[in-house]
Amino acid sequence: MNKSEIIEILLNDPDEDKIFREADDIRRKNLGDEIHLRGLLEFSNICARNCFYCGLRKDNPFVKRYRLKEDEILACCVQGWQLGLKSVVLQSGEDGYFNISRMENLISQIKSATKLAVTLSTGELARADYFRLKEAGADRFFMRFETSDPLLFSKYKPDSSYIRRFDCLRWMREAGFQVGSGIMVGLPGQSVKSIARDIMLFKELELDMIGIGPFIAHPDTPLAGSNKNNLKAALKVLAVARILCPKAHMPAASAMEALSEQGREMALRAGANVIMPNITPEKYRGDYLLYPGKIALSQSPLETVQSARELIKKMGRKEAQDYGHSLRRQNEREGA
Ligand code: SAM
Ligand code: SF4
Repeated sequence: MNKSEIIEILLNDPDEDKIFREADDIRRKNLGDEIHLRGLLEFSNICARNCFYCGLRKDNPFVKRYRLKEDEILACCVQGWQLGLKSVVLQSGEDGYFNISRMENLISQIKSATKLAVTLSTGELARADYFRLKEAGADRFFMRFETSDPLLFSKYKPDSSYIRRFDCLRWMREAGFQVGSGIMVGLPGQSVKSIARDIMLFKELELDMIGIGPFIAHPDTPLAGSNKNNLKAALKVLAVARILCPKAHMPAASAMEALSEQGREMALRAGANVIMPNITPEKYRGDYLLYPGKIALSQSPLETVQSARELIKKMGRKEAQDYGHSLRRQNEREGA
C-alpha cells in the first residue's frame, strides 16, 4: 500500500469491515491467536510538560498529583508477576524526581524480584540515559511521536521538539531497546494526509510496538470542547497499520474502550494483539486522567487482569504464555 492508497482507504473506503477483516487475517497469519497481557503501572502523574491534549499537563491545576514510592512500585510489579503477567509497562509524566539513578535502581530491583519484561514509557531523555536504563535491565521503550505533522506537533507540544522526539526514538534503538511509538487519531487540525504519513513512518522506523488511540478532549486543557468521537477513525488507522506492519505488537488502547464498551474488542478484531490491564493501585487510578471517561477506575489489579482474561476467552483467543518480545528482532537474530 502506498501513501495515496492509504489516504483513499482512510477517506473514502465505504466498507470498513473489509479492511478490519483483512487486518485481522494478517494479524492471525503473523502473530497467531495469542493475546499478550502487559500490566500498565501509572507510577507518577507529575509532569514538567504542557502538552495541549493531556489532562496531566503541568498547568492543569485540578489534578491531584501523586507519585508512588519506589517500594510501592516494586510491590505492584511483584503483584503483577504473581497474577501471571509476563511484562509491565511503567508509565508516567516527565517527573524529575525519577532521575536516571532512581530509575536504574528501580529497574534492577524489579528484575531481581521478578522475571518480568519491563517496558518504560516515561518520555524524552538524554541519549546516554537510554543506554543506562537498558544496561540496568529494561527491555523496551515506548514513546508516541503523536503526529508526523511538524506544525501540529509544535502547536500541541510547545515545550518539546519534533526533531528531538525522533532523535529519542533513534537513541532507544541504538541503546538496544525494543522500540514502540504511535499516534493519537483525531487531534484538531490533523489531516488524513498526515495520518497516512504517520503510518508510513511506523514502517520506516521498523517499530517493534505500535500504539494507536483516539484523541479524547479533556475539559481542563486548551483542546477542551473538540468532542468528536474518533473511535472508528482510530480503528481504521490501526487496521491499515497492521496491514503495513504485520509483525509489530499492537495494543488495543484503553482509550478505545473509553469511547465504547466494545472498543477494546473491536481493536482486537481490527489488528491488535495486546491488552494492557491497569495494575495501578485503585486509590491513584482516578488521578491519572489523560482524557475523561477512563475505564476500570475502581477495579483492582486482580479484576482488570481477570476481565482481560475473560475478554480473551469470550473472543475464542488464547493468552500468550511467553514474553511477547519483538518478533521482528527475533527474526533478525535467526537471520530470517
Ligand atoms: N509522558 C510520556 C509521554 O508523553 O510520552 C508518557 C505518558 S503520556 C500520558 C502517554 C500518551 O498518552 C501520550 O503519548 C499521548 O498519546 C496519550 N494521551 C495524552 N492525552 C491524551 C488524550 N487527551 N486523548 C488520548 N490520548 C492521550
Ligand atoms: Fe506530560 Fe506525557 Fe501528558 Fe505530555 S502527554 S503532559 S509529557 S504526561
